[in-house]
Amino acid sequence: MSSGRSYDVLVAGGGNAALCAAISARRGGASVLVLEAAPKHFRGGNSRHTRNLRCMHEGPAGVLTESYPESEYWDDLLQVTEGQTNEPLARMTIRRSATCREWMAQHGVRFQPSLGGTLHLSRTNAFFLGGGKALINAYCRAAERLGVEIEYDAEVRELNIQNGRFASAVVARKGASHEVLAEVHAKTLVAAAGGFQANIAWLKEAWGEAAGNFLIRGTPYDTGTILRQLMVQGAKTVSSPSQCHAVAIDARSPRFDGGIVTRVDSLSLGIVVNKHAARFYDEGEDFWPKRYAIWGGLVAQQPDQMAFSIFDAQSIGGFVPPFFPPIQANSVRELAVALQLDPSALENTVAEFNSAVRPGAFNHAVLDDCATENLKLPKTHWARRLDSPPFYAYPLRPGITFTYLGVAVNERAQVILQDDKPAENIYAAGEIMAGNILGKGYLAGIGMTIGTIFGRIAGEEAARHAVR
Ligand SMILES: Cc1cc2nc3c(=O)[nH]c(=O)nc-3n(C[C@H](O)[C@H](O)[C@H](O)COP(=O)(O)OP(=O)(O)OC[C@H]3O[C@@H](n4cnc5c(N)ncnc54)[C@H](O)[C@@H]3O)c2cc1C
Repeated sequence: MSSGRSYDVLVAGGGNAALCAAISARRGGASVLVLEAAPKHFRGGNSRHTRNLRCMHEGPAGVLTESYPESEYWDDLLQVTEGQTNEPLARMTIRRSATCREWMAQHGVRFQPSLGGTLHLSRTNAFFLGGGKALINAYCRAAERLGVEIEYDAEVRELNIQNGRFASAVVARKGASHEVLAEVHAKTLVAAAGGFQANIAWLKEAWGEAAGNFLIRGTPYDTGTILRQLMVQGAKTVSSPSQCHAVAIDARSPRFDGGIVTRVDSLSLGIVVNKHAARFYDEGEDFWPKRYAIWGGLVAQQPDQMAFSIFDAQSIGGFVPPFFPPIQANSVRELAVALQLDPSALENTVAEFNSAVRPGAFNHAVLDDCATENLKLPKTHWARRLDSPPFYAYPLRPGITFTYLGVAVNERAQVILQDDKPAENIYAAGEIMAGNILGKGYLAGIGMTIGTIFGRIAGEEAARHAVR
């Protein structure tokens, strides 16, 4: 195995957290090597799919409207996590989120006002002009200008850690026909290699065979190799292997990397049935931005992990359409045939639903009074009879965004070991430690906030440790 030069800071990963760490470490005077498992054209992990981050602010600030104070941000986080969050780390993240946009802009990220649509986030979330791809490109340019070395097709396979001290990493460099293993030495390590959601075998450990039917919304390179290495070498973990962010996406999406355009947003406008043509959850329980993230888990619990969003001509234009067109038919029976569902079963479900719908004033922007009555499984808002052909359907699968199992960290982004002591020279940022703050649930835009803040802290701390 060849051995190359030694660095002050080795960053494993090439997404938002990794690049924030690399830039900060370099600004702190350290020599920095970034090892990114993906080829250059697929660089940037899940971060390249993102659109925004959630920021605290006391008054109108750039693209952010009104105010979003710490207390409200904290209450929102507490609600979605049901208390499964590390309060000191979460509060630090919330406070520092106020400083993110300025730092990001200094390194080339541009913002735009949020677009209208199903997610109303103009007060809380700053949107990136050009999305996550433009953000990654800007950070790579900024990092390289500062002198950070970035290697692509370079997967970190093993970490050499002795007594809680990082010494070196084994990297597999992929060539055109073969790969070469090399050992890279560095004074410090920043682990920023995402979750393990692209590792279907690991997902099966938590979800059983059902995970074979999951689709992964983001990068195929987040396989959890670094997380596993840290775990077997004594890192303390947070959250659990089955906790993740999952939404309902179009079943025709690719296995990996379908991104935001595969999410189906029509669910609250019609009914959702499983492969037995039976409804299984109140589609109108609450506003879509508060409910979309539960539907991945709900679909995962259905037979064969499949479901169908069914609506009629009244709902067309009422939601942001996903990439694939809906399946269309002139009758419910014809639609069932096209979906390979039992036609009589779907007709019965729709007839039962229609006869339970009570008249009301439909308004998707409020919790309206359009509800079913005397239906065993009610639809509590936006219930309209499905009686206006053509009828439409999107086939659904669980779309996994990212997993929450991660390494425990402290406020200096140091990885905590099983004896509760911090590792001397190992830091973590991004999805690989997001479970400290998100033990469960999700708050739109907080993934990028956590990665930006802990990436910056990890980079600064790693440089301080290495260059002293
Ligand atoms: C479709 C989609 C939309 C999203 N939208 C948003 C949004 O708008 N706002 C938001 O806050 N969050 C969003 N998220 C979540 C967000 O992507 C993550 O929270 C965030 O990007 C995590 O950043 P990260 O740097 O930790 O991980 P990633 O960006 O996934 O980066 C991990 C990196 O590590 C590399 N890697 C993995 N293993 C190795 C290894 N062994 N060796 C070397 N490199 C390795 C990968 O190639 C990748 O570059 C979205 C996710 C998806 C999938």
